[in-house]
Amino acid sequence: MIVVMKAGASEKQINTVVKRVELDGFATRLVQGTERTIVCVLGDGRPKEGRIYEVLDGVEKTTRVLRPFKLTSREMQPMDSTVPLNGVQVGEPEIAIIAGPCSVESREQLLETAHAVKEAGAIALRGGAFKPRSSPYSFQGMGEEGLKILAEAREQTGLPIVTEVMAPELVPLVGEYADVLQIGARNMQNYDLLKAVGKSECSVLLKRGLMSTIEELLMSAEYILSGGNKNVMLCERGIRTFEKYTRNTTDINAIPVLKDLTHIPVILDPSHGVGKWAYVAAVARAGIAAGADGLIVEVHPHPEEALSDGAQSLKPEKFAELVQQVRAIAASIGRN
Ligand code: PEP
Ligand code: MN
Repeated sequence: MIVVMKAGASEKQINTVVKRVELDGFATRLVQGTERTIVCVLGDGRPKEGRIYEVLDGVEKTTRVLRPFKLTSREMQPMDSTVPLNGVQVGEPEIAIIAGPCSVESREQLLETAHAVKEAGAIALRGGAFKPRSSPYSFQGMGEEGLKILAEAREQTGLPIVTEVMAPELVPLVGEYADVLQIGARNMQNYDLLKAVGKSECSVLLKRGLMSTIEELLMSAEYILSGGNKNVMLCERGIRTFEKYTRNTTDINAIPVLKDLTHIPVILDPSHGVGKWAYVAAVARAGIAAGADGLIVEVHPHPEEALSDGAQSLKPEKFAELVQQVRAIAASIGRN
């Protein structure tokens, strides 16, 4: 349930509502709108009848939130939330482009890529140091050494770092180096990990699971928000279907559906979504036209030598072309 305060309700009136709700055994979260404050009532079981709060001073109305995700839903927070990243507010109307290699492979490889993507217009650098690989014999990432290289790249370019964390106990270590913690598709329902990043100071990029519904993605985001971390971005990265010509099937539908259901920014990963570099730009353009708030794109200066995901990595020149195309599409739909 949400308790909508009247426009101009005083702090004292808001506090009285919060205390009353908490006395009834529920947790509260405040959502500050431009005109009014909303008190979100959270907890197990069914909240009390709204009428008992409607008699309090300064309350305009109460409304039940029927969806299973609460803090994540537009019912609770009608206005778009934004996540700060390198001076840009990701979400309406800004579009953010994050780029970099799938994995950090060496200092030279990462620094070369970091400078190239910055030059092309990326606002953040991606790169995995801890890699979730299908085979235990595949390159598993450089671990902390990779994180140190990412930190050096940030120092040189000023680009914030987006990097994956795979286990709850690694959140403090990865969080020391990262600006944005990526939760990979395979870990979307690792609830202990979601709780751990919910307590982190870093922003979070939550990727949709390979076989997950939109509702499951939103329930996972709910774990992070309910832990207290408001800086969450969702990432559509393709789902598994019967189609074999592409690695995954980019669910373009998910973009407008998510924008309707939630206030959280939505980022598209066309690289994993399609899995072949030749199609990445087309899918990326479609995602921006469909309303995505940003892209995360794999870029490698020598894709044929990449230790992971070379087949879907753009060379820096191709990435630079894509950024120009995205600028044109963004402008045509009234975004920056
Ligand atoms: C990645 O970003 O390199 C990655 C492993 O992504 P996903 O979790 O979406 O497969
Ligand atoms: Mn990858």
